[in-house]
Amino acid sequence: MKFLEKVKHTFSLSKKIMGLTALGICAGMYVSGSAHAEFSDFNKTQPGGAEVFYLYDRDIINGYPDGTFRPESDVKRGQAVVMLGRALNWDISQTNTSPFKDVPANNDDNRYIIEGAKRGIVSGYDDGTFRPYASLTRGQMSAILQRVYKYPTHFTIPFADVKSTHWAYSPIQALASNGVVTGYTDNTFKPQQYISRKHYSMMLARTLQPSFRPPMYMKVKAGTTKLNVYSQPNTTSTITGALYEKALVQITPTSTKGWVKINYKDITGYAPLSYLEYYRLKGLPLEKRVVVVDAGHGGTDSGAVYGSLVEKDINLKASYYLKTELEKRGATVYLSRPTDTFVTLNDRATFSSPRRADIFISIHANATASHTANGTETYYNDQLYEGDVNPYPEESKKLAYALQVQLDKLPTKNLGIKQNEFYVLRKNTVPAVLVELGFIDGRYDSKYLADSNFLRQSAVYMSEGVVNYFKSID
Ligand SMILES: [Zn+2]
Repeated sequence: MKFLEKVKHTFSLSKKIMGLTALGICAGMYVSGSAHAEFSDFNKTQPGGAEVFYLYDRDIINGYPDGTFRPESDVKRGQAVVMLGRALNWDISQTNTSPFKDVPANNDDNRYIIEGAKRGIVSGYDDGTFRPYASLTRGQMSAILQRVYKYPTHFTIPFADVKSTHWAYSPIQALASNGVVTGYTDNTFKPQQYISRKHYSMMLARTLQPSFRPPMYMKVKAGTTKLNVYSQPNTTSTITGALYEKALVQITPTSTKGWVKINYKDITGYAPLSYLEYYRLKGLPLEKRVVVVDAGHGGTDSGAVYGSLVEKDINLKASYYLKTELEKRGATVYLSRPTDTFVTLNDRATFSSPRRADIFISIHANATASHTANGTETYYNDQLYEGDVNPYPEESKKLAYALQVQLDKLPTKNLGIKQNEFYVLRKNTVPAVLVELGFIDGRYDSKYLADSNFLRQSAVYMSEGVVNYFKSID
């Protein structure tokens, strides 16, 4: 009985044909770029392809005689053990008798199953069978792999469908916290689902070659004021940097309990796990971006006042709307003035650097002495003033443009983008812009600025502008 057909000879022939192609003998027969497709239904460039071919090249997994790989087919119990045995180079020379009535010790594949049972990694059923053709679930596969590899559990990853009472909770947590299994983007693991050949290959390849493990991320828990990062997993070592709440950090599990290795922009080192929570990337456009939103004025500085409209309040309200919209698109947002307090211009300008912000957006409302102006405009700084200029003049201008193009959709007049030496722009350390949403004393604009829907809509447009800005610089 053979669970994995040995069909390498078929492929070595096709490899030879492809070699000739490369020399130009069969030029034109193959479309460029597809010459390395080894299976008719699966190639290296597909998700899981690198892992499958890593195993294939090591004779751990094979295809079917018809040239297919059948990546979505269920893995059978027999196949799973055979692949594991090959991966681990089990010695199967001492497997001459079988404990299973449906697995005779008459070929290598079966001997791997017998060896797996001897090692306590798999077991049969009460009726003396092993049932090699039965399908394996993702939960069962996790339990088998964990029995072999005995990974330590470094931290908890919440899966909606694998609670701590689930029979496979421990093996799944152990494998997941080492990046061997990942689960699905909806935070489920689907432990009852049969495991596909492709997914099993990915799991197995990740045990053998850690570089296949996808990057893992955590977020600094909300409410954490400042989290120090250390050169070693202890608080007596050198501090290499600090993280602020909600920072999205890439992590590597470590053997020191309670600590994890982190990587955040230019900061690397160790941080205590208790201040971090697992974060699964959602594929949102601003997921790895950090934005400072600066609500102009505040506290004793009201900004412009006209009738019942107070600029500092409008700016704060609009800033919270902008924060919400940016966060919806995945960004980490820091407010330089989260409440009605006075913050110096210098504190605003120097707020970006320690948080490793990517961009800075200051929100204001305008006013004129004559009370006759209306319109929305965005400022950037690219000209030297008193010895200072924003260090990213081109990016700042691009950002201003990206925002203004979107803000043009507002009912206000589009006043375009403008250069100015505003302190928070020229003294900043990142690309920075200042948006004047409208004129608080403008005949048309005053009613807009008094309207929450207008401010919310401005935030939607600005966040779309931010998405477009990052697309344009990538
Ligand atoms: Zn202002």
